[in-house]
Amino acid sequence: MKQLTENQVKKSFVNASRREVEKIRIPDHLAEADWTDREYIGWTDPKIPQRAYVIVSIDDVPHGLVLRSTPSTKNQAMCNWCEDIHELGNVKMFVAKKAGSSGRNGNTLGTLVHGDFNCSELVRTPPRAIEGQNDPEAFIARRIATLSDHAETFVRRIMGSK
Ligand SMILES: [Zn+2]
Repeated sequence: MKQLTENQVKKSFVNASRREVEKIRIPDHLAEADWTDREYIGWTDPKIPQRAYVIVSIDDVPHGLVLRSTPSTKNQAMCNWCEDIHELGNVKMFVAKKAGSSGRNGNTLGTLVHGDFNCSELVRTPPRAIEGQNDPEAFIARRIATLSDHAETFVRRIMGSK
């Protein structure tokens, strides 16, 4: 996805109040990172560990979500976004307020996502022997498409259009 300025990030949030958005900052390590090979950008609030943010680009328009992580009863789970079958240990349940009046009325949606928001790296991991060794590039391309699709679908559901 395209690199965004802090101002563009702040403008992109679809499920946050103006007051919440005011406090959002992109951590330096993310601002300086290369965003090209990422289907989304996500980070945990440096001061509020249970709060996190993700930015998903849909048709080149950034859409930001404020997420809240909830304590999980399970030690392992599959990430709903990248569906990696090996990295099951750091997957967290995140809850996001729906956009607009629905969210203000308390409606939320939950999703399981890697707590380090490293799905884009995981889907680019070369396949292991049992997973599509005939065509590793097609395998990775398929996983990238899956991740994009799942991230986008979640944003659309938050916005109420799916
Ligand atoms: Zn993931």
